[in-house]
Amino acid sequence: MTRIAVVEKDKCNPSSCGDFLCMRVCPINRTGEECIIKGEDAKPLISEELCTGCGICPNRCPFEALHIINLPEELNKPPIHQYSENGFRLYSLPVPIFGKVVGILGRNGIGKSTAIKILGGLLKPNMGDVGKEATDKEVIDYFKGTEAQNYFEKMRDGEVKVSYKPQQVELIPQSFDGKVGELLKKVDEKGIVDEVVKKLALGNVLDNDIKNISGGELQRVAIAATVMKKANVYLFDEPTSFLDIKQRIRVSKFIRELADEETAVLVIEHDLIILDYMTDLVHLMYGKQAAYGIVSLPKATRSGINVYLSGFLRDENVRFRDHAIKFEKSLHSKGKEIKEISSWQNVDKKLGHFSLFAEEGIIYKNKVIGILGENGIGKTTFVKILAGEHEPDNGEVSENVKVSYKPQYLDSSSDDLVMNVLQVAVKNYDVQLIRPLGIKPLLLKKINELSGGELQRVAIASCLSKDAGLYLMDEPSAYLDVEQRLVVSKVIRDLVEHKGSSALIVDHDVLFIDYLSHDLIVFEGEPAITGHVHGPFSMVEGMNKFLAGLDLTFRRDPDSNRPRANKPSSQMDQKQKKENKLYYS
Ligand code: SF4
Ligand code: SF4
Repeated sequence: MTRIAVVEKDKCNPSSCGDFLCMRVCPINRTGEECIIKGEDAKPLISEELCTGCGICPNRCPFEALHIINLPEELNKPPIHQYSENGFRLYSLPVPIFGKVVGILGRNGIGKSTAIKILGGLLKPNMGDVGKEATDKEVIDYFKGTEAQNYFEKMRDGEVKVSYKPQQVELIPQSFDGKVGELLKKVDEKGIVDEVVKKLALGNVLDNDIKNISGGELQRVAIAATVMKKANVYLFDEPTSFLDIKQRIRVSKFIRELADEETAVLVIEHDLIILDYMTDLVHLMYGKQAAYGIVSLPKATRSGINVYLSGFLRDENVRFRDHAIKFEKSLHSKGKEIKEISSWQNVDKKLGHFSLFAEEGIIYKNKVIGILGENGIGKTTFVKILAGEHEPDNGEVSENVKVSYKPQYLDSSSDDLVMNVLQVAVKNYDVQLIRPLGIKPLLLKKINELSGGELQRVAIASCLSKDAGLYLMDEPSAYLDVEQRLVVSKVIRDLVEHKGSSALIVDHDVLFIDYLSHDLIVFEGEPAITGHVHGPFSMVEGMNKFLAGLDLTFRRDPDSNRPRANKPSSQMDQKQKKENKLYYS
């Protein structure tokens, strides 16, 4: 059995744990040997040879920074890559397949981005020998007899040309200057810029400076630039973040079209409906976050996603979650509607060139209401009207409700400590917020040191810990992996019930909205020009309305009950359209 010791250095805080608590409690250290020592970086360094796996130090570390792990039998081999001594290790790789779009599904911190960087030649693996780079021969030998051997041989022979879209598109403006149109022309190796601009609806941002466009526009520019490069392996790391559902579908269709006999496409994606829609096969990644990652063999997408939700990999005989994730139809029933939180009637409001109109609607207590609609269509304006921050030009709103709001784009500039920002949550909502959202190890970090996913969880906890009748969250799923999205769904539902309030959740991940919401509000209109609020409806009614505008139909998977988008013009798609049941429930 192989035992590994992992120190998450960004979580470790020796001055706040009582000066290297782990060193003092380690029984091996107490006998005078040096199992845990202070490393050169003033963080603990653990000897995997001396450690007996007693489990004391990971239990005692107040910041959950230590992991002592007994690896499964089959990992009795060096990793493909290891970041540092006591650092994250990756044990296998997904493989691009020519003619197919292959997806990668797994938690954050499990090695997905590392894997595709290795496949893209952007990161040279070290085979566990920290500080060295493996030769092509060593990599090929490591994968002898597998599909990956073939891939790395092609790579060695210069037959693989990779184009890669990184995860963090928001960093792009730091390395490029100039107008979007000029930039796209510069990278267009295939002479397809006009076609791509049209397909990705980028026409109206071509004259804008790259530094002044929105996250969603930046994402589409990055996809366009990736696709216009001459390559035969295209790697996309989270291509749909910041995009609304209409854009997600458009991008999915576009990426699907890339794969042909000579071209392989690999995609990391957390939106399960989009992953399902876009890919032919998926690799599941499992292991332990920030400690080690393993990649499953490829599976047909439908069954792969179902296996992921079940938490048990039968082929590998691995349980990676202690429960299956199930989708209930019953959550969406109307239930008892006792007390009104807010209501409105024929409201309209003009703000500059934008006009908003809301028919009549009521929000009842204890309801989580999903909001679907494009970006820039007045969702925030509407909630400000309910909160009394905007007076409507016409119409009536019931007595103003106190609103707690989490915006879409989070401010990460503050150097305040998380524990200061979350004082109320720490004091009053340890069980409901701090623990399930995994915030304890973040408490001593500064806001500007958090990753996107950590900042999102802190912002959700901060919003829900405030006293309010109505919680509005704009895109709480951004930067979160599938597991975290489902945890957040439960946290929101439980807290709303606990407080006797209600929540409006704007999100573009339809599976997340389906899992979370009792009812649905649908926004229609034209971004920056008009917005029309419809609902709340039951989920079925609301989804029917929403999908009609997208020319899409959804069915439920018979095994997991999860919603799936039908392929356009498939039998199911045509049947549901004919019966006017666009959202099968
Ligand atoms: Fe202290 Fe934990 Fe760091 Fe050890 S790993 S020094 S116990 S914070
Ligand atoms: Fe020491 Fe290993 Fe026990 Fe930690 S798990 S206290 S390093 S023997």
